[in-house]
Amino acid sequence: MARTLEQADMDAIVSLCKRRGFIFPSSEIYGGLGSTWDYGPLGVELKRNVKDAWWQAVVHRRDDMAGLDAAILMHPQTWVASGHAETFADPLVECKECHQRFRPDHLGSDPTRCPSCGGSLTEPRQFNLMLKSFLGPVEDSAHQVYLRPETAQGIFVNFQNVIIATRRKLPFGIAQIGKAFRNEITPGNFTFRTREFEQMEIEFFVKPGTDEEWHQRWLKDRLQWYTNLGIRPDNLRIRQHAPDELAHYAKGCYDIDYRFPWGWAELEGIANRTDFDLRQHQEHSGQDLAYFDDTSQERYIPYVIEPSGGVDRATLAFLIDSYDEEQAPAADGKTEVRVVLHLHPRLAPVQVAVLPLSRNPRLVPKAREVYDLVRRHLVCQYDDAQSIGRRYRRQDEIGTPLAVTVDFQTIEQDNAVTIRDRDTMQQVRVPMDGLVDALIQRLQLSS
Ligand code: ATP
Repeated sequence: MARTLEQADMDAIVSLCKRRGFIFPSSEIYGGLGSTWDYGPLGVELKRNVKDAWWQAVVHRRDDMAGLDAAILMHPQTWVASGHAETFADPLVECKECHQRFRPDHLGSDPTRCPSCGGSLTEPRQFNLMLKSFLGPVEDSAHQVYLRPETAQGIFVNFQNVIIATRRKLPFGIAQIGKAFRNEITPGNFTFRTREFEQMEIEFFVKPGTDEEWHQRWLKDRLQWYTNLGIRPDNLRIRQHAPDELAHYAKGCYDIDYRFPWGWAELEGIANRTDFDLRQHQEHSGQDLAYFDDTSQERYIPYVIEPSGGVDRATLAFLIDSYDEEQAPAADGKTEVRVVLHLHPRLAPVQVAVLPLSRNPRLVPKAREVYDLVRRHLVCQYDDAQSIGRRYRRQDEIGTPLAVTVDFQTIEQDNAVTIRDRDTMQQVRVPMDGLVDALIQRLQLSS
């Protein structure tokens, strides 16, 4: 299985991402836009698979969840109520090491050093983390809107709508995947920290007093999700926030950290947001956002457990964790380096490659027939350019779990094909009639 990667390996991954069409620098023909990235033909598939796997785990396979897709632009009062308008409008310095931001007047005895880790600080700036825009033709404060810095608020403002529409009882949660924007001072580390990114967020509403228990349950579930999809447990850890690093709304928070090549860093935060947001929105909107519990005949504002992950960070972790360079036998009898992504079959951009042994005109029609059959069930790619060995390597490099090879024996003797496994490189011969079932079984897509 894959090694634990060093910083130097990141260059190889970034280069693979560009070369094979996972991730491109944004607007590259104009010299790029700092820390902004576009997902290419394979990257878009991988990222969609990450989102689908999340949606399936947290919405479709649970009875206590519903989905939502709220707008990026929201009423400006949302950000006043949530505390973002005020919290992010101060002059701030940011620590170049741990990225915590501080008001210059809160720095204490040495104003040049981070009070948390001792790292050096950026110059102070009047810094609003939220990206601003204007609705309509007039650019004044009355028409000012923000691009949401988190998807969570779209869920809170729809809490009553969803309760009424779905007749849900607590405990239940709302899940959402969508873009968020933050004017980060120090973006970087490829797609790890960008100013435009995607979040996968759950707001799980519970009766106050049951919040601690639900917090622990979600922590366990979310950690499991990453390992089920192939991240090695050694590369994951849970880090509890110290009281002084808690966000203004949080009673407690745990991060799921991944061991990135540059060190441990947050993949997902799981916070207990208490009743802070609903209470704030109730106050600022004048709407009653309390929940009536008809079992206990009580009215209360629910507490909220929030597992909040980044799609881009998860995608990057899956790429890094699956990347490996292995010694493999070469055609000339020597060995060569085989670059392989051991991606979970649910995440792999291509599930099956169909490869005729060569471009021989007798093989190609049969291989095309196999391709047409398999692509009805699985995400499939056909490739007949260059030698079969090279084509296997190309598929290994993009993480395709299985390759089906059509050879002369297929057309002359047994109407069977070879299935080659990416990880073991073993090959088995399978009759054409059972091919799709055999592929589906090997892919183990249900986990
Ligand atoms: P960090 O401390 O790394 O800045 P955060 O604690 O501010 O992250 P949250 O507000 O908890 O992040 O957001 C939830 C998730 O959204 C994070 O765990 C991360 O996966 C993702 N995320 C947050 N900011 C960014 C960003 N600038 N680029 C990419 N993903 C991000």
